[in-house]
Amino acid sequence: MTEDAAGATAPALEMRGITKRYPGVVANDHIDLDVCRGEIHALLGENGAGKTTLMNVLYGLARPDEGRILLDGRQIQIAGPSDAIARGISMVHQHFMLIPVLSVAENVILGAETMSNAVFVDRHEASKRIASLAARFGFDLDPDAKVGSLSVGQQQRVEILKALYRDARILVLDEPTAVLTPNETEEIFALLRRLAADGRSIVFISHKLYEVLAVADRITVIRRGRVIGERKPGETTEEELAELMVGREVELTVDRGESHIGEPVLRVEGLRVADDRHHEVVPGATFEIRAGEILGVAGVAGNGQDELVQALIGLRRCIGGKVTLMGRDVTGLSPRRLNEAGVGYVPGDRHRFGLILAFPVYDNLILTSYYRPPFAHGPIRNDSAILESAAAQIERFDIRTPSARVLTSTLSGGNQQKVVVAREFDREVKLLILDQPTRGLDVGSIEFIHRQIIAKRDAGTAVLLVSAELDEVMEMSDRIVVMYRGRMVAERDGRTADKSEVGLLMATGGQEGAATQKEAWA
Ligand code: ATP
Repeated sequence: MTEDAAGATAPALEMRGITKRYPGVVANDHIDLDVCRGEIHALLGENGAGKTTLMNVLYGLARPDEGRILLDGRQIQIAGPSDAIARGISMVHQHFMLIPVLSVAENVILGAETMSNAVFVDRHEASKRIASLAARFGFDLDPDAKVGSLSVGQQQRVEILKALYRDARILVLDEPTAVLTPNETEEIFALLRRLAADGRSIVFISHKLYEVLAVADRITVIRRGRVIGERKPGETTEEELAELMVGREVELTVDRGESHIGEPVLRVEGLRVADDRHHEVVPGATFEIRAGEILGVAGVAGNGQDELVQALIGLRRCIGGKVTLMGRDVTGLSPRRLNEAGVGYVPGDRHRFGLILAFPVYDNLILTSYYRPPFAHGPIRNDSAILESAAAQIERFDIRTPSARVLTSTLSGGNQQKVVVAREFDREVKLLILDQPTRGLDVGSIEFIHRQIIAKRDAGTAVLLVSAELDEVMEMSDRIVVMYRGRMVAERDGRTADKSEVGLLMATGGQEGAATQKEAWA
């Protein structure tokens, strides 16, 4: 941490008494947050605690009802994101805001162009600045590469470079590691440390406690809109942080118990799937999952997992091969037919495939069953059955919402995820396809969902678990397959598999000196 001239640690940012109310919720309740120069400050809190709201206030996306913001000791009013950026506050969102067909350099300068005269952008000057920033902070990026050809981790670095190009002094990263491999996570941490050493302030939102302990200088925990505690990593543990966040003791490891594996439920033979650009990204997958078994798919994002899952759930056409469910050929059936045949699905991209955000919560809870009794009898909707069922699910899955009637778009990210999980877990299914089921969830909710997955397995459901969280795959799976460039390159017993070996297989596919992801997909 750097010290100012007077020797005291100077807060670069002070948020004082920030209060933000939404109908039925106090999202931020007199929150105080100080971030020093050169500090990595982690913001922890359960789903719906108010972290995003607080950062939206800082970035000018939400207007606080009460409270003050001071930058370097001076009170400021932030009119909107461009005002925030002009004041040196930048946000790296979870969903990147990059244009894939443009190069790294073009994305970085977009919206902050230096003009050589009134008409032309001074590309030479821009390239020089980018190169000097990249060299100074050790970015390993080719400025001419198209962003669409970069890995997720590289794209994230472009976002950070973009912020630095705009001279960000305060950088907010909202769950930056949710989509990264362990190696990429290490790289981003090293970069954050270099930025902090340069005197910049980082606000880091994460649900991963070990990461927070590894990278933060200070941790502020919020619960239900209020600051509940502040800790330094050396003075606390994952257990204490979890308890502070959730307000009760949390089991951080899964007790998966004995599996009782039965007959095959899903059989996939030579399945071939293409991506949106008609590239065959799954060139022949063959595997089966039995009743009472969890098959975990480990793999770096972008190795064909999305396309495989989408084909299995009827959202993407298979170009070859066969899928059998309980002995019945279900290849190419529509999502509704598969749903009726007993397939449950938690999608990786909940906004695209899991929810209609403009609908109330109760409608999203019946999205796959609204046309059937007890929710409808012919064309007649049974609103009281719908609301009663919604209330029970909100209670059972601890979905934090003022009511079942609010629009799903107003729920926090983690609570939106719980709506999808509640819908898919609260019925009898033969096969459950889970794509990143705990992404964005807090430790308490992860504990709950993991127990639900085990309970489903124990009830004889076959589970396909696709997760970018290697720990989750390792802890939950009876069997693990590693997917690399669309192929299942290795299979391991879930109870004896070695994490570093699986990690290496994910990175190289088992080949020495394998090409990078970028080269693979070029
Ligand atoms: P997560 O970890 O799930 O992302 P979070 O800590 O970021 O959670 P916020 O998104 O800040 O939580 O939400 C805090 C509360 O404010 C939630 O109860 C949410 O439903 C509510 N809220 C947030 N934005 C709005 C909005 N635009 N309209 C109504 N309510 C909102």
